[in-house]
Amino acid sequence: MIYEKKIDQMIKRLRAAGIEDRRVLQAMRKIPRHLFVARGLELQAYDEKALPIGFGQTISHPFTVALMTQILNPKSGERILEIGTGSGYQAAILCELGCQVFTIEKIKELAFRAEKRLKELHFTYRFLLKVGDGSLGWSAHAPYDGIIFTAGAPVPPEHLFDQLKDGGRLLAPIGDQQEQTLTLFVKEDRSVRKSEIKKLRFVPLKGAHGWS
Ligand code: SAM
Repeated sequence: MIYEKKIDQMIKRLRAAGIEDRRVLQAMRKIPRHLFVARGLELQAYDEKALPIGFGQTISHPFTVALMTQILNPKSGERILEIGTGSGYQAAILCELGCQVFTIEKIKELAFRAEKRLKELHFTYRFLLKVGDGSLGWSAHAPYDGIIFTAGAPVPPEHLFDQLKDGGRLLAPIGDQQEQTLTLFVKEDRSVRKSEIKKLRFVPLKGAHGWS
């Protein structure tokens, strides 16, 4: 298959860059990333870059997806809320890891395409998708074991701590529109522990708790 060598190279690069979680590497080997990029860009899908998916949005770099998944550390059976479905690739990785995925996308057309891809990969019963403002969370299905933002938020999303279980993790890039710090919040008893991981650049989170 034409993508096999490219997938091997991607996995090798991810390992060299510090991704050690074998479940994450296995999921990234298994999910066909070339099905999630815009038509004509399939051969670049496994390169270390973000690629356009239409409507001014991108699918994140393989390393970003791997790193965020490794840090979120989702276990099989956990309920994970994703804010910013985009192409559906991150959601597919979470489904492959056995999670029950709740994902929200504000752009209707992207949401429909992502839903179709996830169904074609037989994840029909693993995810629920809605079109809307994910910056508000999805209280109807809360509490979650994990919440992952795939767009950069201007302020820490403290209003979503209520939608996290005790022991739950919330991972979000926070900063201005040029650069954000990937930040992990862990809810323990009634307090929340915060750690800053790494500077990265994401597309902006829009909506009530995002950029206007
Ligand atoms: N996780 C995606 C993937 O695997 O392809 C990458 C997502 S892309 C970097 C960020 C996405 O967040 C975009 O599709 C954008 O439309 C979406 N977005 C931005 N603000 C949002 C909001 N308030 N609610 C839901 N989606 C939002």
